Amino acid sequence: MKSAEIICVGTELLLGDILNTNAQFLAQELARLGIAHYYQSVVGDNPERIQRVVRTACDRAQLLIFTGGLGPTPDDLTHATLADCFGVPLVEHPEILEDIARKFVGRGRTMTPNNRKQALLPEGAQVLTNPRGSAPGIIWQPRSDVTILTFPGVPAELKVMWQEVAIPYLKAQGWVTSTVYSRLLKFWGISESVLAEKVQPFFDLQNPTVAPYANLGEVKLRITALADSETAAQDLITPVEQQLREVGGLDCYGADEDSLASVVGELLQTKGATLAVAESCTGGGLGAMLTQISGSSSYFWGGVISYDNSVKVRLLGVNPQDLADQGAVSHTVAQQMAAGVRDRLNTTWGLSITGIAGPTGGSAEKPVGLVYIGLAGANGVQSYEHRFGASQGREWVRHLSACTALDHLRRSLLDESSQF
Ligand code: ATP
Ligand code: MG
Repeated sequence: MKSAEIICVGTELLLGDILNTNAQFLAQELARLGIAHYYQSVVGDNPERIQRVVRTACDRAQLLIFTGGLGPTPDDLTHATLADCFGVPLVEHPEILEDIARKFVGRGRTMTPNNRKQALLPEGAQVLTNPRGSAPGIIWQPRSDVTILTFPGVPAELKVMWQEVAIPYLKAQGWVTSTVYSRLLKFWGISESVLAEKVQPFFDLQNPTVAPYANLGEVKLRITALADSETAAQDLITPVEQQLREVGGLDCYGADEDSLASVVGELLQTKGATLAVAESCTGGGLGAMLTQISGSSSYFWGGVISYDNSVKVRLLGVNPQDLADQGAVSHTVAQQMAAGVRDRLNTTWGLSITGIAGPTGGSAEKPVGLVYIGLAGANGVQSYEHRFGASQGREWVRHLSACTALDHLRRSLLDESSQF
């Protein structure tokens, strides 16, 4: 069976300076297109080592997909090394030079002699045009059993070139046979092990398959189908998705690109409701999540970062006596923060977070990771206690707090019989 290998070039990848998101993107795309893929390589900007990787890859794959090293600087060596590898010269493409010159003029910049290098491609290679940047890639069959595609390292350029040029080429060459299509169901408020137990029988399915994932407090089920067309794959996925959603109940908050913030946003919008937040230990993290969603200004009005107790009193109206008696991290203060921000900003809902993010602070009675979330609606105020633990660190506690706050609001918005 023919297979592909992903080869990412760049010393910065080996040094760990940048995360290899290009490999992730390409791997997901290959899976989606049903192209077998058994190996990935990462190699620095060094001609001998790149050659060695190419030789190895040619022995075990027929489609070699490169990213990186197409730029104008001396460390960008991919095309020159590939030409050496297959014993052909580099040839200058005047149309690329013209294209680069045009792009430079368009951006009001002058072209440097270095950029001429980007017009040099191995003899026999086709140009894989780059609509975003200056460096083009290549589509090249240096041998009957080897096809090479090269892309720039810049992720946005890679993605456009992949979608617009590479996929049509791979389809035309018969690389794309079946479609692998998947749906990601997302859950909050249930652990991976509990969910896995609930949906255990689904793990035995063959097509589609169901597999669990968990990260950062979120649990996901990926439903993956293999079929001749996207419609056929969808037909396999839909009934299984419906059953899983039923089993998941309220814990299943969405699918694919959905986030807790986007789902809460849609619910608020549907109900014509508005939201304000009061944050202590998350320091604006909740507001940041909400405003990541484009269009959030129609339902999210703003918030108060009441990190110091004096701000809780002055801007939110928290009772100083309650602060003294119960402490800032308490049901009472969470409720007063939520109600305070709701009343002062005149929104339908007020959502608050107060907790001990750690790693220092905390006591036997109120340990690191203890968080209270307050929720004030039109008809009342509620609060919830959570113990997120200290072991995974400060950012973990802050992230879980913001997500969990959104989740409480989501559940209240969904629950018609809710007190609020
Ligand atoms: P340029 O013309 O910008 O030099 P290039 O094709 O030479 O493009 P590189 O120099 O290797 O590409 O990388 C350019 C930038 O793209 C890097 O600084 C890095 O931020 C990003 N990049 C490179 N490779 C990857 C990768 N595998 N995953 C994610 N980002 C990458
Ligand atoms: Mg470069």
